Amino acid sequence: MAFDFASFGCMVFDDREMKKRLPDGIYDCLKQSIHEGESLHPEIADTVAEAMMNWAVEKGATHYTHWFQPMTSITAGKHDSFIAPQKDGSVLLHFSGKELIKGEPDASSFPSGGLRNTFEARGYTTWDCTSPAFVRDGTLYIPTAFCSYTGEALDMKTPLLRSMSVISEQALRLIRLFGNTTSRRVNATVGAEQEYFLLDRRMYEKRLDLKICGRTLFGARPPKGQEMDDHYFGRIRLRVAEFMQQLDEELWKLGVTAKTKHNEAAPAQHELAPIFDTVNVSTDHNQLTMEIMRIVAKKNGLACLLHEKPFANVNGSGKHNNWSLSTDDGRNLLDPGKLDPRQVTYENLQFFVVLCAIISAVDKHADLLRMSAAVAGNDHRLGMSEAPPTIISIFLGEQLTSMLERAAQGGGIDSGSCGALFDDVAVLPTLQRDDSDRNRTSPFAFTGNKFEFRTVGSSASIATANYVLNTIVAESLEEFCGRLENPKNSLDDEVRAIIAETMREHGRIIYNGNNYTQEWVEEAKRRGLPNLTNTVDASRAIVSEESIRVLEKYRVLSRVECESRCEIKLENYSKVITIEAKTMLEMVERQYLPAVISYAGRCADSYNALKAAGVENRSLHSLVEKLSQNISEISGAYDALEATLCQLQSPLSTLENAQFCRDRICPLMQKLRLAVDTAEINVAEESWPTPNYTDLLHRV
Ligand code: ADP
Ligand code: MG
Repeated sequence: MAFDFASFGCMVFDDREMKKRLPDGIYDCLKQSIHEGESLHPEIADTVAEAMMNWAVEKGATHYTHWFQPMTSITAGKHDSFIAPQKDGSVLLHFSGKELIKGEPDASSFPSGGLRNTFEARGYTTWDCTSPAFVRDGTLYIPTAFCSYTGEALDMKTPLLRSMSVISEQALRLIRLFGNTTSRRVNATVGAEQEYFLLDRRMYEKRLDLKICGRTLFGARPPKGQEMDDHYFGRIRLRVAEFMQQLDEELWKLGVTAKTKHNEAAPAQHELAPIFDTVNVSTDHNQLTMEIMRIVAKKNGLACLLHEKPFANVNGSGKHNNWSLSTDDGRNLLDPGKLDPRQVTYENLQFFVVLCAIISAVDKHADLLRMSAAVAGNDHRLGMSEAPPTIISIFLGEQLTSMLERAAQGGGIDSGSCGALFDDVAVLPTLQRDDSDRNRTSPFAFTGNKFEFRTVGSSASIATANYVLNTIVAESLEEFCGRLENPKNSLDDEVRAIIAETMREHGRIIYNGNNYTQEWVEEAKRRGLPNLTNTVDASRAIVSEESIRVLEKYRVLSRVECESRCEIKLENYSKVITIEAKTMLEMVERQYLPAVISYAGRCADSYNALKAAGVENRSLHSLVEKLSQNISEISGAYDALEATLCQLQSPLSTLENAQFCRDRICPLMQKLRLAVDTAEINVAEESWPTPNYTDLLHRV
């Protein structure tokens, strides 16, 4: 049956419900807080809480939870029921304003990077009323921010919310300069395209590596990978189509605007894109999307993999973070408007200032942006089979780049006349959305009216990438606004000076070529662009003096919060590598080695049987030799990894631990994998203990 769109958002306490259930004055006050990105006024909290509870109970809720996003990339919350016992043994349902606004979960089991001592285990959650509450599985979910007892951020949302006010303030200053007197807020808007893999659950269940680590740690190259390019946008198979439909419907009920679905480049890989929203709502919705993907997959006998690189040598999964700035009345600051060089408008000028702010911000803080996409899984994805490299650069397209270059060269600017900005250029057609295919290779591409940041990994929360973007762009905007508010000559003269300076000092970040080539790696090095090739180096970018300075300046993160985040990232990296290494050892010891040994024995038996019958088979003999060689190589690599893993137990700092994992453990894991994958192609399929790549990638 077709989905009834009247029930879109039916599980959300959205504007319709608020309006229906709250007295006018209270509704207006709440709307005001939501609009301004403020917290709820305590005086109205009780009324809002009660209305919310009554609505939730009608939707089948018995509990509420303060839903938060600790620094683990998944969400958390404890569930409390609404019951209030009465003297006569009955219960009433009760939910107070205080309970709505603030919760006190025990914070001791969440990563804090040293911020919270266990004797101060208390943490606080506070309602983020800019993201609506919703009901799921009998619980009212209240989106919250999560802080320590002493007020430090322990989650992904807090810095994001802080950064949203920061960018709004500076962007408002800018639009005022260009004649906008009516908009009251500028929001960062984001549409996060989510890539994922779907596997047959029976196959998945047979692989310890997939169950524990979310990716294959072994697997010989299949005869058919993605080389035929026949999966991208291909016909969606029935089983997948059913999954996608159920997923859409679940998401629609929760108000998530799931819009586009298609097959991706690798076999078994797919994508879901929502319609963009303000960045905090997008962040919440993306977390929900990931959770619901996993659940719906399981219900359909499938497994959803959100890991950045589930399979070697095929496309990995990312999250394309489409980012822009938009006024509360819907004007997109990255919309260039009609670009006619004979008649440059205020809208055009404003666009160029925003563009310059982004160019200079990304160049100044490329390392911080790279940090925002650093997780162990992404190390396998970035720079490989159709993923952007670890070098951050901007794609603008030839047309826009040459406009900037021409404006930078300048000359002949009459004050007061915008028209002279691009004086020698013929009428330009409106910007083409995709200049060429090369923009698909760029980590940070302008795509007509937004930037698409593609480095972010598929499993990560998008919050980090966006609080970084908001903060660094706000800083450039602040600098430019300062200049434009007191221009030396005319406004357009000052704009031209800004363009010239940006191109001179930060033009190196613009690259319109193919980012997948080795030439670019070398060219980027000549340009002095950072290339943080792994999570350990990239994670440390958040504690550089420059990063701390900008994050502290706008109170998005304090120095200790930056330090704690770095600590958590490094700790997480070491944990992931250690768990992967241990999983490898277990699979080798209990599955692969016994399989190769027993198969080698059977081959040797066959060889002896033939020999006894008077047949000397050299091919069989050499197979037995090869298998014996495989056994030695696997055992050798196993011993080396096991011994090195033991050394990790000596007392090292978090950084040293992570470096040890990267430099000593990872290469040995690689070696062990190679030994097992080599053996796999020598062993009969029915004697191999785990499903192979073909089983995993081509069975749905
Ligand atoms: P593609 O990247 O495949 O060309 P689209 O351009 O249609 O796809 O959009 C990709 C994503 O960008 C969608 O989630 C869309 O909602 C989002 N998007 C479109 N406009 C904006 C905007 N102004 N701000 C943020 N995201 C946007
Ligand atoms: Mg895209």
